[in-house]
Amino acid sequence: MSGSLTTVAYIGATILFILSLGGLSNPESSRRGNLYGMIGMTIAVLATVLGPRVSAAGLGWIAAALVVGGAIGLYLARTVQMTQMPELVAFMHSLVGLVAVVVGYASYIDPTVAAGMSPAEEHIHLVEVYLGVLIGAVTLSGSVIAFGKLSGKIGGKPVLLPARHWLNLLLLLVVLVFGYRFLAAGSIQQGMTPLIVMTVLSLAFGVHMVMAIGGADMPVVVSMLNSYSGWAAAATGFMLSNDLLIVTGALVGSSGAILSYIMCRAMNRHFISVIAGGFGGDAGPPKAAGAAQPAGEVVAVSAQETAELLKEANSIVIVPGYGMAVAQAQHTVYEITKFLREKGKNVRFAIHPVAGRMPGHMNVLLAEAKVPYDIVLEMEEINDDFPDTTVAMVIGANDIVNPAAQDDPSSPIAGMPVLEVWKAGTTIVMKRSMASGYAGVDNPLFYKENNRMLFGDAKKMLDEVLGALKA
Ligand code: NDP
Repeated sequence: MSGSLTTVAYIGATILFILSLGGLSNPESSRRGNLYGMIGMTIAVLATVLGPRVSAAGLGWIAAALVVGGAIGLYLARTVQMTQMPELVAFMHSLVGLVAVVVGYASYIDPTVAAGMSPAEEHIHLVEVYLGVLIGAVTLSGSVIAFGKLSGKIGGKPVLLPARHWLNLLLLLVVLVFGYRFLAAGSIQQGMTPLIVMTVLSLAFGVHMVMAIGGADMPVVVSMLNSYSGWAAAATGFMLSNDLLIVTGALVGSSGAILSYIMCRAMNRHFISVIAGGFGGDAGPPKAAGAAQPAGEVVAVSAQETAELLKEANSIVIVPGYGMAVAQAQHTVYEITKFLREKGKNVRFAIHPVAGRMPGHMNVLLAEAKVPYDIVLEMEEINDDFPDTTVAMVIGANDIVNPAAQDDPSSPIAGMPVLEVWKAGTTIVMKRSMASGYAGVDNPLFYKENNRMLFGDAKKMLDEVLGALKA
């Protein structure tokens, strides 16, 4: 394939990627968006592999890598549980970071890359390598820690080193000094030491940054690492002089940055304060695990009683959370919704922007279960309607309906906007126990007078509720 044909293919792929991002912004067009993305990526890979920069001798290696990578991807896509998706995404971000680091080193030590460059061009190339490895290393180690936190392998509590802001500043200064030494180095051998030192420091910085972020602020980290992975890809594109990779990386980087901003706004946090870390850690002495400190009595109900409450209600708002994903209860939720709507009841869904474990988690599950989009409402659209709601049914959600966010300034989630379910006539909270949610804080909602607890696995309990409704 000639160079100009590759360029044309790259432009086509870029347009498809932009259309893909546009499509993904709305549930109704998201399938189309995904399709554009897949076609764009196929064109991009084919144009690169068959393009002028790949020699015939390299094709065998590329084919072998495609088979191995494709097989692993296919296996993961088929076996991953919906609840493991957030960790998988974090893991994939770490791979983008790893690629940027490896490509950075490779393009630094490969003598053919800089051959024929003018001194100015060579200088720019070195800056690209240094920045590419830096962004890649932070993305790599940060994403590995995020993977650990999301999969529960690492505790959600922030780990705060003393004088951490000074430590970060010191790291930055050292990285700058070594950057200067890297650029001034006369040979690859001399430049290697500053490059390795910077890589180690950047890896440490990534670990430090994500470890310092508390449970409830993880959504911002997830979207931020998404953005970093885009910039790491763009940096890789600069190092490989691949325009498509630069554009694609910039698209992912900027959309991730916008998502981080939206997440921060949804949680009423300042971006810089989240990055500086420490939220979720100042909630007073931690409560001993298992040592229940009930703030009152809770009223437990049965599936039968829940069905009675739903039968008598006119207006019902369902609030899904992470537990619905764990229980895979979305299909039963849809069956119940269909039944109640056929009985003429006004049933709607309230989606909190950080419900679940990844942006859009609940929307994906409800779309999978074929819940009509027009009854799925965002927090701002529905929060004022709770006083006119007969029953608010909370399915496996906890932090996003915690009134302490409004009432208790010392709470780690203080200031985070929440769904005001307690203003409904009756709330029914479906969960297995009195355990806390991801942020690890008690929920006073459970003890409110108009609240009922339906204890048990959400799928099992909802099946029973559906049975009782139909009986
Ligand atoms: P939470 O984690 O606050 O609560 C989920 C609740 O579901 C738990 O209290 C649990 O209680 C219950 N549960 C678990 N399994 C089941 C089951 N099988 N059946 C019934 N209930 C179950 O989830 P929310 O969605 O309310 O809030 C999301 C939290 O996650 C926020 O703190 C957010 O900051 C954080 N987060 C969000 C991310 C995002 O991008 N959306 C990313 C990372 C973190 P029990 O054990 O008693 O059943």
